[in-house]
Parts: sequence; structure tokens; C-alpha cells
Amino acid sequence: MQDCLFCRIVRGEIPAAKVYEDDEVLAFRDIQPQRPVHVLVIPKRHLTSLADASSEDAAMLGRMLVVANRIAVDQGSPDGFRSIINTGRIGGQEVMHVHMHIVGGQEPVGPMLKR
Ligand code: AMP
Ligand code: ZN
Repeated sequence: MQDCLFCRIVRGEIPAAKVYEDDEVLAFRDIQPQRPVHVLVIPKRHLTSLADASSEDAAMLGRMLVVANRIAVDQGSPDGFRSIINTGRIGGQEVMHVHMHIVGGQEPVGPMLKR
């Protein structure tokens, strides 16, 4: 995906504050952090959203979940974190490359949704 923002980060064309990388996933700090710890975990291979996921994507999506706790602890959220994947218009997805937010810090993140 030539013009996809997160594919460009994967290719190193746009700088990002990388905090974790393996053969399948990359994690970097969100540019507008909502909490003291706010990291995005993305698959290196482009996938637009969970609405497009198929069984072929199971391993890389699973990897995103498996590495989350290590990233959270490394970044300063040792007692848990919230993981969020926004999907499509209803979910409020702004960047059309699957990403999981990891948000946390020393204080509880708060209610899951604004009331
Ligand atoms: P979402 O609404 O789930 O699509 O979230 C997109 C997230 O990407 C937002 O939290 C943005 O702050 C973040 N973001 C956008 N551009 C960049 C970038 N160049 N580097 C890091 N995070 C970004
Ligand atoms: Zn992409």
C-alpha cells in the first residue's frame, strides 16, 4: 500500500518512535498520546481493518495481542493497560491500517466509553 501512513512508517519513510519490532509487528508511540503510555501496535503487512480480516491474518493478529503486555510493562504501565482496536466508521477508525492502541500508565485509564 503505497500511500498508507502506517505502511510508510513500516518502510521507514516516515519517522516514528519505535518501541518494539519483530518479523510480523511493529509498535511505536502514538503521536498524540491520550495517556502517559500510548503505543500503537500494527502488523507490518497491510490490513485495512478488522472488517477485512480473514483466517490468513490470525497469526499476525494474535501476535499483536501476545506482545502487548511486554510493551506496556516496558513503557511504564506495569499493572495492566487497555487495548483498543477501532474499526470503520462506527468504531471511529481514522487510519486505515489495523492498529491496536495500548493505553496506560500508573493511574487507571478510566471508564471504557465516555457517557
Ligand atoms: P484511530 O482513531 O484508532 O484510527 O487512531 C489513529 C491514531 O493514530 C491516533 O491516535 C493518532 O494520534 C495516531 N497517529 C496518526 N498519525 C500518526 C503518526 N504519524 N505517528 C504515530 N501515531 C499517529
Ligand atoms: Zn498500510
